[in-house]
Amino acid sequence: MRTIITGGAGFLGSHLCDRFLAEGHEVVCVDNLITGRTSNLAHLRDNQRFSFIHHDICHALEIEGEVDNILHFASPASPIDYLRHPIPTLKVGSLGTHNSLGLAKFKQARFLLASTSEVYGDPEQHPQREDYWGHVNPIGVRGVYDEAKRFAEAITMAYHRFHGVNTRIVRIFNTYGERMRLDDGRVLPNLMGQALRAEPLTVYGDGSQTRSFCYVSDLVDGIYRLLLADFHEPVNLGNPNEVSILDFAQEILELTGSASELVFKPLPQDDPKVRRPDIDRARRVLGWEPKIDRHEGLSRTLKYFRARVADNA
Ligand code: UDP
Repeated sequence: MRTIITGGAGFLGSHLCDRFLAEGHEVVCVDNLITGRTSNLAHLRDNQRFSFIHHDICHALEIEGEVDNILHFASPASPIDYLRHPIPTLKVGSLGTHNSLGLAKFKQARFLLASTSEVYGDPEQHPQREDYWGHVNPIGVRGVYDEAKRFAEAITMAYHRFHGVNTRIVRIFNTYGERMRLDDGRVLPNLMGQALRAEPLTVYGDGSQTRSFCYVSDLVDGIYRLLLADFHEPVNLGNPNEVSILDFAQEILELTGSASELVFKPLPQDDPKVRRPDIDRARRVLGWEPKIDRHEGLSRTLKYFRARVADNA
């Protein structure tokens, strides 16, 4: 099996490289490194079955030889990253998905799209099921990501229906773990970094908004199962255990033993008020559900962030 992973130098992408190598695949990672980092792949440098191509998938990619699977994970994915790179975010979701699908069609490879819970926007249905069409502000600051991913889903289904490409779509909910960037602006790296540096923890709004956090190994396992399943509709993957951001901040204070206080900052525009995946489809189709609870996942992640904070100190 030969598998291409776009965005393979990112947080999720690099864990996918590890998993597919462990399953015996040859892995080709394609990344332009705008938010990914080669340090995520440093441990694979001497692996004969791994190669890295520094390339922006918004431009056509030629690959020699057979390809069995293409996983399209390239995209800025944290709110501050896609606010910082709005045009590349729109382009990689549209042109990048088009190029990846074109390659899958040419190579007769399976194709798996990394979509997102952001396709549901600020949801009016709770928890979110795959048949919900969402509530997205197309011209808001988050629209660059949300609409790019919605377009990516549309073109993926069109290539499936019109060209018969063997596609999959995963809608990924908030995921955390080792290799997240300390400065990616998401709530977990922000709060853990602040707690470890004895700085105040920044809670946006009143902290009553909710999220549901999935540990990375659970997510990767769901993605691997989805690739092997013969299922073409979108599948939510995430941990349905929902928590308010205020309670989450308290959990991080307790876990780190930090005496930091909380400071409240303005809620960003279009910040979803609630988010929780309905994972019935994943349970039924993939026999999948998360195994790592938040306490265990956060404890593992804390070790990693302690080391990162020490590196920067
Ligand atoms: N958030 C926060 N403090 C921070 C960073 C984020 O309270 O320092 C909030 C943010 O407003 C959102 C939630 O935490 O309600 C999750 O934000 P994140 O950026 O991790 O991802 P999102 O789920 O919004 O894509």
